[in-house]
Amino acid sequence: MRVAIVGTGYVGLVTGACFAELGHEVLCVDNDERKIEKLRRLRMPIFEDGLEEMVRRNVDAGRLNFSTSIREGTDYAEVIFIAVGTPPDLHGKANMSYVERVGREVAEHMSSYRLLVEKSTVPVQTSRQLQRTIQKYLKGDVSFDIASNPEFLREGTALGDAMCPDRIVIGVESERAERLLREVYRPLIEQSGCELLVMDIASAELTKHASNSFLAMKISFVNAVSRVCELAGADVEKVAHGMGLDRRIGASFLRAGVGYGGSCFPKDVDAFVRIAEELGYEFALLKQVQAINRAQREHLFGKLQKELWVIEEKTIALLGLAFKPGTDDVREAPSLYFAEQLVQAGAKLRLWDPVAREKFLEQHPDLPCFDDPIACLAGADAAVLLTDWPQLKELDLEKAKAAMRCPIFVDGRNMFEPAAMRERGFIYHCLGR
Ligand code: NAD
Repeated sequence: MRVAIVGTGYVGLVTGACFAELGHEVLCVDNDERKIEKLRRLRMPIFEDGLEEMVRRNVDAGRLNFSTSIREGTDYAEVIFIAVGTPPDLHGKANMSYVERVGREVAEHMSSYRLLVEKSTVPVQTSRQLQRTIQKYLKGDVSFDIASNPEFLREGTALGDAMCPDRIVIGVESERAERLLREVYRPLIEQSGCELLVMDIASAELTKHASNSFLAMKISFVNAVSRVCELAGADVEKVAHGMGLDRRIGASFLRAGVGYGGSCFPKDVDAFVRIAEELGYEFALLKQVQAINRAQREHLFGKLQKELWVIEEKTIALLGLAFKPGTDDVREAPSLYFAEQLVQAGAKLRLWDPVAREKFLEQHPDLPCFDDPIACLAGADAAVLLTDWPQLKELDLEKAKAAMRCPIFVDGRNMFEPAAMRERGFIYHCLGR
């Protein structure tokens, strides 16, 4: 089956590669010419384990192609997925200008029936707006459908998530749209055995914002518990373990740390708060989730500040720049908050990350970055661990301590054991223990 995907970012590229892997013929479209040029040379614009090999395999097999032309995408396939960004605007609302533009452009080129599928994370009732826009820009009497198919993949494990999802959600309002989407997903369902949930479009749109907000809430919940643990002399790791074994709660997303970041949770929680507000409901719970998340970064920063007394002229090593391991994405990463605060306070920064340095340096081009964490720690007055990369678990702590000027270690991911770190001579700070 032929499928076009407009927007070849994290979601579009991974989805396109996976659909091709499942045997579909896929055209990935993006208006970023440099990105498409790079992809045609089989250079990946993002880091994701296994992606390059999958893209190469399917390009070689002739099933995966790239284009900068929406017209080509519209001509190519009956089913067109929209996977462009929906970043927050100045007020926290989802900026729908990219989705709207794709709707307009596809409409102008449509000469026979097309199914437009919202894969981008969009506010509930987006399909209605899209419907009106397409109707206005259509040239002639052409029929079309809109469907919602929210994406749940996680950066860092995107290929595994896309090839073996927990569920596939589709929102449809016509039999034709349902039949087409069932056809797109048939090979994946046969291969992975996952469930396909068919519902109305508004419910499908809402499922995505509700899921991400719930996961962010779990993180903020355990972070709030970590604050109480600190005050009570308890250990949040033990509390979370005790909670997580309850099957009604589950262990995932119950790890205390510096808070959530990334391109999805912050913006999706913001957007969901705004959507609810516009519909007439004040989602006070989610406002607290946001506030706890902001406070957690500040709280960790406060620990560093208190320990150093004066930050000016101190050399600080930031270990981990990506918002989580397995990705080079630094959007809304805690590392950006720490870098801004520390630079402003007059600190000298040294950076380490196995894959995210390039993306981080786009925003802080003058900061020194090192290939090896021990080299990064050389002469540091303090280390701040912000991403739980497995490489850091293997860190030679003797060498690390010897490299530092002062062995202050602020662990934003609770990666090490407090007692063991103190025994080794570190001045160790973490969260909720
Ligand atoms: P991204 O920024 O990585 O990619 C978006 C792409 O769309 C860019 O390459 C951009 O050039 C392209 N684009 C923008 N306007 C275009 C146009 N008019 N024509 C063609 N291409 C255009 O974004 P992403 O992380 O892939 O996210 C896309 C959507 O999926 C967002 O709504 C996001 O919330 C959602 N989502 C993201 C993830 C994730 O982990 N990144 C997971 C699930 C859902």
